Amino acid sequence: MKEVFFLAERPFVDKGKCTGCGACKQCCPVNVFEIENGKSVVKRPLECIQCRACEASCPEKAIVVKEG
Ligand code: SF4
Ligand code: SF4
Repeated sequence: MKEVFFLAERPFVDKGKCTGCGACKQCCPVNVFEIENGKSVVKRPLECIQCRACEASCPEKAIVVKEG
C-alpha cells in the first residue's frame, strides 16, 4: 500500500523551538534523529515506531509525533 508509506507517522521538529540539546536523539529507540548545526533533524522518519518518547523528552516541547 503506497498510501501507507506516504502517510507513515513521523515526528515533526519545530526548528524555531529546538535548542539542539540532543535529548530526543538519546531517547529514541530506533535512532530517528541526528543533531546537525545545533538542531534536531528527522533523519530516519520511516523507522519511527511512534513510542512518543521524544515528544516527552523534549524540554522545549518542539516535537510532535503525528499519528496515522
Ligand atoms: S516517537 Fe519514538 S521512535 Fe518515533 S522518533 Fe520519537 S522516540 Fe523515536
Ligand atoms: S529534545 Fe527538543 S530541543 Fe532537544 S534536540 Fe530534540 S527537538 Fe531539539
